[in-house]
Amino acid sequence: MVCFRAGLMPRAVIVIGAGISGLAASLRLSNAATNVSKVTLLEASGHIGGWLQTTRTQDGAIFEHGPRGVRPAGTVGKNTLQLVSELGLENEVLPVTYRHVASKNRYLFVGGKLCKLPSGLRSAFVTRPPFTQPIISSLLREPFVRQGEEQDESVHSFTARRFGKELAELAVDSLCRGIFAGNSRKLSVRSCFPTLFEAERKFGSVLIGMIIGGGGARKDPSFTSPLVRRAQTEGWAQWSLKQGMQSLPEAMEQELRRRGVEIHRDTPVNRIQQTPDGAWEVHLDGGTMKADHLFSSVPAKVLSRILPPSWVALGDSLQQIDSVSVTVVNLEYDGSVLPIAVMMGGSWFREAFGDPETVAKGHLLQRARDTVRSHLGITQNPLRAIVKVHKDCIPQYALGHSRQLDAIFGAIEQRGVALSLIGASYRGVSVNDCIYQAQRSVDSLRG
Ligand SMILES: Cc1cc2nc3c(=O)[nH]c(=O)nc-3n(C[C@H](O)[C@H](O)[C@H](O)COP(=O)(O)OP(=O)(O)OC[C@H]3O[C@@H](n4cnc5c(N)ncnc54)[C@H](O)[C@@H]3O)c2cc1C
Repeated sequence: MVCFRAGLMPRAVIVIGAGISGLAASLRLSNAATNVSKVTLLEASGHIGGWLQTTRTQDGAIFEHGPRGVRPAGTVGKNTLQLVSELGLENEVLPVTYRHVASKNRYLFVGGKLCKLPSGLRSAFVTRPPFTQPIISSLLREPFVRQGEEQDESVHSFTARRFGKELAELAVDSLCRGIFAGNSRKLSVRSCFPTLFEAERKFGSVLIGMIIGGGGARKDPSFTSPLVRRAQTEGWAQWSLKQGMQSLPEAMEQELRRRGVEIHRDTPVNRIQQTPDGAWEVHLDGGTMKADHLFSSVPAKVLSRILPPSWVALGDSLQQIDSVSVTVVNLEYDGSVLPIAVMMGGSWFREAFGDPETVAKGHLLQRARDTVRSHLGITQNPLRAIVKVHKDCIPQYALGHSRQLDAIFGAIEQRGVALSLIGASYRGVSVNDCIYQAQRSVDSLRG
């Protein structure tokens, strides 16, 4: 049973933004076990799902423009699979196991050529370019490295200190590019990879921490879905959905409508204002709406622009959380070449392409095609190409991000206002993290 702190029932809640975070919060709020009488979801664009965007062509091709792979591991991974089951999408799930070639064959483009990354225990014992020593030697040294004392550290500095420069520069740097489209020298290890940071704090070693602390989610009895068990027994590394990731927000929207949640597309929130009794007025293009509690799932910078103008300190802290822009180019080829999506930009977008607002799509497509030719040797013309420029799409948890969070959530608590912040700007950018944090934020309001 979720009942709200002030105990005033029934309550009206407005959720701002219908990305995966806003949808997950709305589902939790509209659950029959809550005492919320009315949930309204306001979305600025005409699309429900935020960055979860799929193009489905008439000839059956599926193009992902946002997330394409979700990890089933850990509490957050199991939690998403549980939700997928509850939404009736079990038969839509497309798993990729650890044994699949796509999991085993991962490459880095270093020094002008593709280098296959080690996969599996045996390959950790051999020296393979681009590495100059077996991975196992860095791993075995790690438990004996002295514990760091900094409150925060860059991902690069942390991994170089614990695992050596080579792993930091080759493996972990590319991981940061893949997940955050970000620079490992600027990203915070404490906020981007909290389990690594905490393992060092708690056990003095990342490796030991992973071995001892890795089983938490396995014991959690709340994940009853057969899908969770299947993922474990079949050894899923990742999963997607047959009709594309957009099927997830589509199913969530359908369920929300069934529960009577009001969903408004093309309804940007311009300003939020508190009334003297602590309730909220939400200002829209065509008027205002009232709510007892607000959930904001929009990016931190967007929230800073719609807050009451007098909330200067909170607005300033929200402004500090930057995001980077990414171009996704989907290429479809005739015959059995790889299905390819090229992601470009991120932390290096302006340096590489200029302003994401004005860059020519033709130029981006040419760069993607040049890359596919030089890296993969594919010279034929694509049958179809879709270029999307996603402006400010991935938040960057820079060094000191956790201090910003303390300032932001501290300011809200101090004001005692009925405002909850969810979304990728704060505690995890993955689809799993967004869903889990949104649900927890609703649960934290339990009386
Ligand atoms: C290219 C790309 C690839 C990715 N790949 C993966 C992946 O493979 N696996 C993975 O787990 N994660 C991946 N991610 C990350 C993940 O998709 C996102 O972090 C997540 O979808 C963010 O969801 P959100 O709901 O927090 O934010 P958003 O999706 O940004 O949703 C916020 C919503 O608020 C709306 N909004 C904004 N302003 C207003 C306003 N004033 N009023 C009302 N509404 C407003 C927006 O239109 C949007 O719909 C990827 C992200 C991108 C961009």
